[in-house]
Amino acid sequence: MLRQNRMRLGVAAVAAIVFIGLGVLVISASKGRASASEKVEAATQNDWTRSARYASRADKQTGKSGGTGTAKNVKLALDWLVRHQADDGSWSGENYSVSCRKPDDPCANQDGWHASTGPSLPGFDVGVTGLAVLAMAGRGNTHIEAEKKEYRESVDRAITWLLKQQSESTDDAKRGVIGHSEREEWIYNHAIATMALGELLLGSGDVDRLAAPFLAAVEYCLRGQTKGYGWKYTYQSIMSDSSVTMWMANAVLVAKACSEAGLIKLDAEKIETSLSSAEKWILAVTAKSSGVVGYQAPGDEGSRMQGVYGKEFPFDKGKMLPHTAAALEFAITRGKRGVEPLLKWEGLLVKTPPEWKPARGSELSSISFYYWYYAAHAMFQIGDKPWKKFNKSLKTALRKSQRTRGCEKGSWDPIGEWGIAGGRVYSTAMGALTLECYYRHAKEEQPKPKDD
Ligand SMILES: [Zn+2]
Repeated sequence: MLRQNRMRLGVAAVAAIVFIGLGVLVISASKGRASASEKVEAATQNDWTRSARYASRADKQTGKSGGTGTAKNVKLALDWLVRHQADDGSWSGENYSVSCRKPDDPCANQDGWHASTGPSLPGFDVGVTGLAVLAMAGRGNTHIEAEKKEYRESVDRAITWLLKQQSESTDDAKRGVIGHSEREEWIYNHAIATMALGELLLGSGDVDRLAAPFLAAVEYCLRGQTKGYGWKYTYQSIMSDSSVTMWMANAVLVAKACSEAGLIKLDAEKIETSLSSAEKWILAVTAKSSGVVGYQAPGDEGSRMQGVYGKEFPFDKGKMLPHTAAALEFAITRGKRGVEPLLKWEGLLVKTPPEWKPARGSELSSISFYYWYYAAHAMFQIGDKPWKKFNKSLKTALRKSQRTRGCEKGSWDPIGEWGIAGGRVYSTAMGALTLECYYRHAKEEQPKPKDD
């Protein structure tokens, strides 16, 4: 019973950890079969401007968009990740502490919170490795070019490991999958790893190394989607859930960008069908009155790991709105603005700014990297006063809680909502990704008002 409960709860938890991509890509004939010199040129450019959505990574407009003062925090987080990467190129959510300066006295939470050092549940190394790569890519770093040699080499080793985790099965339900495991929530591994490979392909143009595996991974995503809706843990599941669906949809968005940039060849209609189906799912689980986007039903609270945390990390369920936040950014990306239910979604996020408040006594924890990650990206798109206010809370919450000394320097303690699922690697990668919201996705243009 306990195990079942853990599994069920773990799913959403892990969702927090994973993103995915999808796609039906075919290596672009024009790029994939280019001359040798063209290939070399393509593989030595670090050019995020191949896609307008990701172009701002190239110049990291922190000053323009409110991110001033957070670059240092992101770099410290990336440095922590590099120091805790395994020799084989992976990050282990569960066993990362073997890379600690003193493995017998590893990174630990402040104030004695939770006796553990912050390891995750087993089975999600592919997912947390994907998140670490995404955190690198979010600041424009790839295996071709990076801010530091250490980052470039780190991403390079991570790619080698991730590609080894991809299935070579010819079975439709397995082909192209990255990180399948016995856990039913393994799908998060695939989603996040797919997204990571796609972003690196986009940023580096390295078609030779990344296009074919990314294409295979995306093809799985597209094949495995529930017709007309979203995704869940199994191939063409009867049910969908909002957590997996949003990670997958974001992977499809990366695939769309790669396709439009000519790095892969995907059927544009298939991409649009996939994204519009995901949108349909999100609207189906939006509560009419409150606007809350549920996990599997309108406005539901979603899957929870509270049982696993016991009494140590009781959190405030009212402050966890990851699906609502993810839905808002996704809808804006789809060209929507200023209409319901987006206005309700925005209102909910405005009322729920990030606050680093661990549980104490009868007070519940408000910490959720999963929610903050999506909410920061969504509110950045909203802009203006609501964003400025939200951003102030965001910077305060993350800057004051980042660890500043010892082996922990640059990391965040995994004491939030899904920390027990993803551990310190998860919380640190998500903290960095959240603070990259100022340049990770360019601001979408506001749709022009209609003349009528
Ligand atoms: Zn350490």
